[in-house]
Amino acid sequence: IAPPPRRSIRELPDELISQIAAGEVVERPASVVRELVDNALDAGATQITLRLLAGGVRLIAVEDDGGGIPMEELPIALKRHATSKIRDLQELESVGTMGFRGEALAAINSIADMAISSRASGQSSAFLLDGRSGELKPVARSTGTTVEVKELFFSTPARRKFLKTDATELAHCVEAVRRHALARPDVGFAIWHEGKLVEQWRACPAPTSLDAISERLRDVLGDDFKDKSVAVDYLSSMRDDGGQAVRVWGRVGIPDAARARPDQQFAYVNGRFVRDKVITHAARSAYEDVLHGQRQPIYALYVEIDPTRVDVNVHPTKIEVRFRDSREVHQAVRRAVDAALAAPRAAAAALATT
Ligand code: ADP
Ligand code: MG
Repeated sequence: IAPPPRRSIRELPDELISQIAAGEVVERPASVVRELVDNALDAGATQITLRLLAGGVRLIAVEDDGGGIPMEELPIALKRHATSKIRDLQELESVGTMGFRGEALAAINSIADMAISSRASGQSSAFLLDGRSGELKPVARSTGTTVEVKELFFSTPARRKFLKTDATELAHCVEAVRRHALARPDVGFAIWHEGKLVEQWRACPAPTSLDAISERLRDVLGDDFKDKSVAVDYLSSMRDDGGQAVRVWGRVGIPDAARARPDQQFAYVNGRFVRDKVITHAARSAYEDVLHGQRQPIYALYVEIDPTRVDVNVHPTKIEVRFRDSREVHQAVRRAVDAALAAPRAAAAALATT
């Protein structure tokens, strides 16, 4: 058989580059929700409202009351690799914001109809940018930003075919917001679908972050999670080099609360929801004597660590992180959960012997 004729090397057109990149970041409507809520939180929002149509496929609108985007920067926000969050390598290595890659808006704009309206704080006027035409026009609104994403994957029908039913896509969208909500009890969230309010979690003002998290966990996951879990609050000892200790806090379920599936395991690193083998393993290992078979503990664990000791730039969706010293994190999580589980058991044992 004759080899295929050689084709010359060409640089891809910009639009196609964005569409390829979008494939990594946007798998389904929930991925868009995650990115837009990340942005709203980075902008300092205290209230985030989502409106969805058809599970997010027809419309995802995310409105926030954050700091907004000045009119002259709106077109730049849609450019690839354009961000206000980092400036250089040093800032990348200690990044504290959810975003920093500057690619979400560009990616979404390449595979959907997008419009951004925003009023920057301290400005008296607001503007709407149409992502397709680039047209900018004045609108009326209060300080903050609304990003509207319509007809997701209209230009990439292959992707669109992989979507499930509206109900399933909606469930994924709600789950994406839930993950954010469990990290930010100080922020109010509301989700509307087809004109109906599906979830609403009010900002909880509470004296300590642990109290606020407990309240938010109850709001989001129900009384059962709250009643069948105990507080975790642990600080590792200082590192030999004088570096910052690791703090692990949150709530872990009592053994009785364990489930058949790991669907109530929430782990955060510096406020970012992660799927991390080190944390999962450490948490599960604390239950090894009390949980048998495949029973899965429930927990919401928040790991706070010096940002230079964790690399968040491992995966385009940032759901995976890499620790400089994973033993340090494993040990901290294990000890934190051990201590929390020991406390009520010890109390119960003492009661039983009196
Ligand atoms: P990144 O979040 O990684 O910076 P994005 O493409 O998500 O990249 O957003 C690009 C830029 O647009 C952000 O850096 C930010 O300055 C601005 N931006 C996006 N969404 C919002 C928002 N809701 N409020 C304020 N600014 C926003
Ligand atoms: Mg972003």
